[in-house]
Amino acid sequence: MAEKRDYYEVLGVSKNASPDEIKKAYRKLAKKYHPDLNPDDREGAEAKFKEATEAYEVLSDAEKKQKYDQFGHAAFDATAGGGYSGGSYGGFDGFDMGDIFSSFFGGGFGGQRTNPNAPQRGRDISYRVDLTFEEACFGTEKDITVNHLEKCTSCNGTGAESGSSPETCPMCHGTGQIRSVQRTAFGNFQSVRPCDSCGGKGTIIKNPCMACHGEGTVRKPKKVRVKIPAGIDDGQQVYVRGEGDAGSKGGPNGDLILEIRVRRHKLFVRQGYDILCDYPVSFVQATLGAEVQVPTIDGKVSYNIPEGTQPGTVFRLRGKGVPKLNSNQRGDQYVTVKVEIPKGLNDKQKDILRHFDDNVDASKYRQRKNFFEKMRELFK
Ligand SMILES: [Zn+2]
Ligand SMILES: [Zn+2]
Repeated sequence: MAEKRDYYEVLGVSKNASPDEIKKAYRKLAKKYHPDLNPDDREGAEAKFKEATEAYEVLSDAEKKQKYDQFGHAAFDATAGGGYSGGSYGGFDGFDMGDIFSSFFGGGFGGQRTNPNAPQRGRDISYRVDLTFEEACFGTEKDITVNHLEKCTSCNGTGAESGSSPETCPMCHGTGQIRSVQRTAFGNFQSVRPCDSCGGKGTIIKNPCMACHGEGTVRKPKKVRVKIPAGIDDGQQVYVRGEGDAGSKGGPNGDLILEIRVRRHKLFVRQGYDILCDYPVSFVQATLGAEVQVPTIDGKVSYNIPEGTQPGTVFRLRGKGVPKLNSNQRGDQYVTVKVEIPKGLNDKQKDILRHFDDNVDASKYRQRKNFFEKMRELFK
């Protein structure tokens, strides 16, 4: 058995938490991990639910809490053993689970719950879409294949073979739930579990539809053409309404959610709607000025680098950035001048440079002139 976690840590409260805070923390966890509310991971949720319940059992009881604070888990090893082991998930005496469940079942605990035959919206489906930098900038259309649930056409979604229809479950009388009260070492439980007989649906299908095995829906691949808007960025989502799983009992379909990933560009970096890029020039170009061809997402554009451009100078190309979502405006492109110093020159080239340097007086270098004046002052 894995090492037991600290009860305070389990509930996410401090050692000086008030009874009220402890109760609130447990309530939150019980709601989050109730197995009935986690159909995708019942077992994982159940383990977490039990862990939280055990922690709450101890920390909500002043006497047990004191023992725990003094001796830790050792205080209960002999008696608690494997800890809480109830097989049901109801409320403790004196602990009102009603408000936890009311938000899910639409009624007080022990009262009526939402009709299992009420329309249910289908699930949303996520689908990852990889885009090139340019596709994200300008938008695109993609054909993707979604493996989603569709309403079964053979039974028109009822799940019953044609000529028959679903009947109300005699075990739960259509509520989809079985409830009972149990006495345990931890107090009275009112337990509610889905009806075994109908699987919580409230109805029983005697003649299940052959095509969907009584589910009313069938999983089918469907080709969907999706439109990605211009200006979308990495990590954003695009909702395609109604292309998720089919709803049941006349409920609406879920949505298809496109999770956008944008691949890195060789030259550009995106920052919001602006595009950044470096542009390497020779020191001669920077010194004399030059007309250069700068890459943009629209193609090459000419730019005049002025005479005497310093390394790190940034120039802006207005409106050459990314089109803004749902707008006809665009960001800008910022180009940083990188002056590259040549390496591995031959003797002749070096001679030319030495000759050049001998002919340029110090006044042509403003930064150097400034620097050496200050340095002279410093060592005067
Ligand atoms: Zn069917
Ligand atoms: Zn039933």
